[in-house]
Amino acid sequence: MKKILITGGAGYIGSHTAVELVKAGFEPIIIDDLSNSDIQVLDRLEEITGKKLAFYKGDCSDRSLLDQIYAEHQITGIIHFAAFKAVGESTSLPLKYYQNNLMSLLAILDFMKSKDIKDLVFSSSCTVYGQPAQLPVTEETPRQDAESPYGNTKKICEDILVDLVKSKAGIRVISLRYFNPIGAHPTAKIGELPIGTPANLVPFVTQTAAGIREKLTVFGDDYDTVDGSCVRDFIHVMDLADAHVKALSFLGKQTDDFYDVFNVGTGNGNTVLEVLRTFEKVNDVKVNFEIGQRRQGDVVKIWADTKKINSVLNWYPNYSLEDSLRDSWNWQKTL
Ligand code: NAD
Repeated sequence: MKKILITGGAGYIGSHTAVELVKAGFEPIIIDDLSNSDIQVLDRLEEITGKKLAFYKGDCSDRSLLDQIYAEHQITGIIHFAAFKAVGESTSLPLKYYQNNLMSLLAILDFMKSKDIKDLVFSSSCTVYGQPAQLPVTEETPRQDAESPYGNTKKICEDILVDLVKSKAGIRVISLRYFNPIGAHPTAKIGELPIGTPANLVPFVTQTAAGIREKLTVFGDDYDTVDGSCVRDFIHVMDLADAHVKALSFLGKQTDDFYDVFNVGTGNGNTVLEVLRTFEKVNDVKVNFEIGQRRQGDVVKIWADTKKINSVLNWYPNYSLEDSLRDSWNWQKTL
C-alpha cells in the first residue's frame, strides 16, 4: 500500500483528503503542528475511516522529524497542504507568511530529493490569477501580481516547483489551484475549524446563523455582476479531496521531471448573495446580514474553466452548492 505524507493533514482540506486517500487504498501519514487545527480531528478520522492514522505533531520544516517519519514509513509521495492562509493577516504579518509557506516547501523538496520521493501534489490557489481579464480562467490565463503576501507565497511556490522540475531533480509535481472550498464531510464529523474570526465567507455565514456572530457584512452590492455582489466558484471540500487522489494516481503514471497545474473548481460562479439565499433555503434558517462598502483588494468575479482537469484527470465534481451549504450547516451544528 502506497504511503503518502500529508503535511497539514489535520487541517480543513488535508483531513478530508486523508479520508479520500484511505478510500482509494493509500495509507496517509499526517504531519501537522496544530497551529490551525485541533488534535481531535485524528479521532474523527478514525471514526470515519475505521483506521487509526499515523500522526506526527510538528513542523514540516523540521528535517529531523521528516527523517524519523521516513525511517518509520517509506513514503512514496507527499501532499503539501501545510501553510498559513489568512489573506488579511498576511498583509500585516508578511514575514510570518513568507517564512512558513516558503520554508516548509523548501524543506519538503530537499527531503524528497534526499530520499528519492518522487510525487508531490501542491496546494495552490486561484488567487494567483488576480482579477482575470477573461472568464472563466483556464490554466493558461496569465498569473498577475499578487494582491497579498499570502497570494505571493503561492506564486513563488509554483515558481520554485517549476524551476526544480526543470533542473531534472527526478520529481513529478502537480499544483492544484483551488477555487473556494466549502462544505464538510457528509457525516459532519470533520469540517472547517476557523480559529478566531473566520476569514472565509461560509464559516462566517454558519456562525452568524448559529448566533455566534451578530451580523454578516456583504462587501458591496454594486459590482458588475447579476446582483451586484462578488462572484466565486464554490467547491465542495470532498470534491476537492477527490482531486488530490486523482492527481496522485495520475502522477504515478508520469515520467520523471513532470510538472503540471490544474484548476479545481466547479466551473460555475455564484454570487455572495446567492450563497446566502441558498444557505437560508436549504437549511431553513435565517442569516442576519447587511450590505456594506466594497472591500479593498477584493476580486470582483472569478470562476474556473475545468476542461483540463475533467479531461486529463477524469475529475468531475459530485456535490452541488446546495449539498455544500447543507453539509457546512450540519457541521456547524455539531460544534
Ligand atoms: P488549514 O489551516 O485548515 O490547514 C493547514 C494545516 O497546516 C493546519 O492544520 C495547520 O496547523 C498546519 N500547518 C501550518 N503550517 C505548518 C507547518 N509549518 N508544519 C506543519 N503543519 C503546519 O487550511 P486549509 O484550508 O486546509 O488549506 C490547506 C492548503 O490549501 C493551504 O496551503 C492553503 O493555502 C491552501 N488553500 C486553501 C484555500 C481555502 O480557501 N481553504 C484556498 C486555496 C488554497
